[in-house]
Parts: sequence; structure tokens; C-alpha cells
Amino acid sequence: MTSTYMPRVRTREELESLQLSGLQWTVSHAYNGSSFYRNRFNEVGVRPEDIKTLEDIRKLPFVTSKDLQEGYPFPLLSVPLESVVRIHASSGTTGKRKVLCYTAKDIDDWANMFARCYAFAGCAPADRIQIAVGYGVWTAGVGFQNGCERFGAMSIPVGPGNLDMQCQFLEDFQTTVTGSTASMGLLLAEEIDRRGLRGRLALNKMIFGSERSSDAMRVRISDLSGVEPDQLFDIAGLTELYGPGTGIDCRYHKGIHYWADYYILEILNPDTLHPVQPGEVGEMVVTTLMKEGAPLVRYRTRDLTRIITEQCPCGSIMPMHDRILGRSDDMFIFRAVNIYPSHIDQLLSNITGVGSEYQIHLTREADGKDEMLIRVERAIDCPIDDAGRIKKAIADEIKKQTLVSCTVDVVEYGTLPRSERKTKRVFDSRN
Ligand code: ZN
Repeated sequence: MTSTYMPRVRTREELESLQLSGLQWTVSHAYNGSSFYRNRFNEVGVRPEDIKTLEDIRKLPFVTSKDLQEGYPFPLLSVPLESVVRIHASSGTTGKRKVLCYTAKDIDDWANMFARCYAFAGCAPADRIQIAVGYGVWTAGVGFQNGCERFGAMSIPVGPGNLDMQCQFLEDFQTTVTGSTASMGLLLAEEIDRRGLRGRLALNKMIFGSERSSDAMRVRISDLSGVEPDQLFDIAGLTELYGPGTGIDCRYHKGIHYWADYYILEILNPDTLHPVQPGEVGEMVVTTLMKEGAPLVRYRTRDLTRIITEQCPCGSIMPMHDRILGRSDDMFIFRAVNIYPSHIDQLLSNITGVGSEYQIHLTREADGKDEMLIRVERAIDCPIDDAGRIKKAIADEIKKQTLVSCTVDVVEYGTLPRSERKTKRVFDSRN
């Protein structure tokens, strides 16, 4: 069976040749269709005909979220407005929303990308997919929905929340797959467990979008829902790049396969903007290959990840990146080393006796030397005389993984401030 949504290329060479023609088309389309892009390209003296190889992408200037906000309401628009059939906007809470324009072809391409995600997760047309993400101006609901219809499975568009209805539908419609955020997946799993529904459901797969599911969360969701751990999938995507559906992990869970026949992914050092070594962490920078309404040329996503260099046992030539490991805006430089709070976070979570709350304090001593103090809470069940061991374990691990020294302060459980939103963790008083 041939499907419109499966990769049309069979080898890396074919993929690269498709990427080059897509890149050339995009640069020329953006140059001719958008005064924003034309001015940007002119500023650095690059013209569409200068793009002769894939490496020439490095001649092109970057686009940032600031450019999208400054171009409000229709940033990066590269087609006449009458060709636009839909807009979506990010659910951002600060400043102006990022609005993206889609042509009919963009919507069609996006549906194909998302349908491919369902295929990679092992779904079949007989599946019944309960979509429990938000519908509206953002991309989540309609992304899951269009992809499901393109794939040919039955969609059950419930939207988020409403656990009574979710559970009733899971049972009455014998839903086999859910699409939700990981948090919603956990709520659903808890509710399935609480109501003792497990033996009465056909649910065997869950697909998570828009937030990263932690390993601990996945274990808990699997335990409570009865869905096998290898049937939990993370879908990738951001509004600027169509929306959710631009990549997903396959059943081997070696990384996120991303759709390199629709966009080029560069992983760059956020400071130098040069490519990192393969496998090293850097910022995701994306360039679309066939997006008409609002094409992206070297769009800096600020998301950090790395390319997974090993070959996936599934045999797909679609390359893989790791889960999102943090945001480059959060990075700080300490004694010439780039440090990401998410890295510290991850490192602390592997040390027994450490609670979930921590702070990083950066100070400059009178002699000009920078110091880092990491303050952590003891876990609720950790005895007080364990503090010495915790201090040493953290200092050793930080030294091992980041090559810098720090001091560690262990405080009582519950003494560091908590927040329902984003908790401030880095306190930099060096300047
Ligand atoms: Zn795979």
C-alpha cells in the first residue's frame, strides 16, 4: 500500500537532493514573496541563486521569535493574503502572540506529516483515536484531528479535561489510542485506575504532545492505565513549524524521528551559531522545504536537543533527535563553561535523597573569581545525617559532568519557594 504521507525518499542521497531543491525553492519563494525576507537577505548580500549546496544554508541570516512578534499580525507572510486559508497562533502568555499563516497546501502537508506520526506509532485505520488536546486558535487539536482523518482512523474529538466524558467514551467507544499532553495522560491513567476500568477498555496506545513526558511520569502512566510502556509516544512540533506532528519516536524509542523531507534541522551552539559536533547538545534551528504561507529560514527555536547518531532498528532513514532537553535562553556561563539548568536538574534527579526543589546561586568574589552554590532540599523521607553524603555526591557529579567545582547546601524539605508557574532557579548576582 502506498500512502501519501510516508517518506518519498529511500536513501540519504535522495533525501539530501530533495532537501537541496526544497531549500532553493524556499529561499527563492521567501525572497520574491516577502519584503521581510528580501531585506534580510539583502542585508547579508545573499541572493537565491547563491544557494548551490546544502552547506550554503550557512550563508543565510537567522529568524527569531522577536521577528515574528514584530511582524504581527501576519509575520513572514510570503504569499498574497487571498491564498491564506487558515491562521494559527501560539498560546504564549507574554507579549504579542506569534501568528502563522497557512495555505491549503501547508494544511495538506501538515496533515501528511501528522498521519505519518500515527503510522510510526504503529496505529492502523481500524484504530479509534480519542483526541484530548485543546481545539481553537492553537495547533494542537486540529493537528491531531487532520492527521487522524488523513491517516484514516476514527477520530473522537473530545478536547482536554472533562474526565467523566473521557472515561465514558474510552469504555463505550472502545477507544484504542489517546492523544493528549503527558499531564492529561497522567490524569486519565489515574482516573482509569480509580474507577477500576482497566479490564473493560481497549486502550493500548497513548500519544503525548506539547510537553516532555519524564521517565518517572511514563512509568506511572503505564502502571495505572495498563498501556505497555513501549506504547507511549512523544510527538514533536511547534506552532511556527506547522504545529504538532513534525516528528515522533517509533516503537524502539531510540529518539524522535523527524521529517527531514519537510524541514532541515540544524543543531547550533547558541553562542557561536556554528554547528556542534554530531551528538552534542545545541539549539534547534529549522528551515522549511515547502512551506508557502510563512516559510521558516533558519528559525531559532531556542529548544535544545542533540542529534541521535545511531541507526534506529526500525530501518527508517528519517533521522532522529533527542527529546527537548531545555531552552537556550536559560543557559548561563560559569567559568567559561556553558551550563543549562535542565542539565543540573537531570543530574540532581539521579541522586538519591535529593528533593525536587533546588536553586543555583552565582556570585563573584572580591578576587574576581566566580562561585556557584547549589542549594537543594532533602527529599521528604531522607534522614538529616545523609546531608554530608548528598553534598559530596552532587559536587562530584557536577565536577564530573560539567568540569566545574561548586559548593552545595542541603536544606530542609519544604523550605525552598514553590510556584505553580515557572519556578525561578538561577540567581546570578555576578554583575
Ligand atoms: Zn525507528
